[in-house]
Amino acid sequence: MKRAIFPGSFDPITLGHYDIIKRGCELFDEVIVAIGVNSSKKYMFSLEKRKRFIEETFANQPKVSVVTYEGLTVNFCKEIGADFILRGLRNPADFEFEKAIAHTNRELSNIETVFLLTTAKTSFISSSIVREVLRYNGDYTKLVPESVRVEKI
Ligand code: ADP
Repeated sequence: MKRAIFPGSFDPITLGHYDIIKRGCELFDEVIVAIGVNSSKKYMFSLEKRKRFIEETFANQPKVSVVTYEGLTVNFCKEIGADFILRGLRNPADFEFEKAIAHTNRELSNIETVFLLTTAKTSFISSSIVREVLRYNGDYTKLVPESVRVEKI
């Protein structure tokens, strides 16, 4: 049983996340989308909304579930019996950042991080760009799955 977690803030889920999760389903028996709770961070969407957006998006994909967690990702992996961390890479900046985290996680555990390169079409999308577009009433719908609707903010 290959169980992976896909950790992140998902504030909100974007088509970039969607692409990685969908492709992760081809590689793993189970993909657990894990929303990290960081009490010192300010979010645009509440935890409940961020969770609901992802659940609605993958309502027809039984391999995907959504959970929330606090603390170190590797500790959470051990708790739920996940051997893999799935991450997406968009550009060299992502790579440098992710490399340090993956090395640290390897020092702390034997959990493998598996990277997927984003598809070209979604590689420019980030949750922070979506939030910026939303803040100024731009058309965000091309950047996010259908479940993310502004009236739900
Ligand atoms: P974090 O709080 O860790 O930055 P995010 O929700 O922004 O969380 O991202 C979670 C994961 O999704 C990370 O591995 C990130 O690289 C990946 N990701 C973010 N945007 C995209 C995208 N457009 N395409 C592919 N992967 C992405």
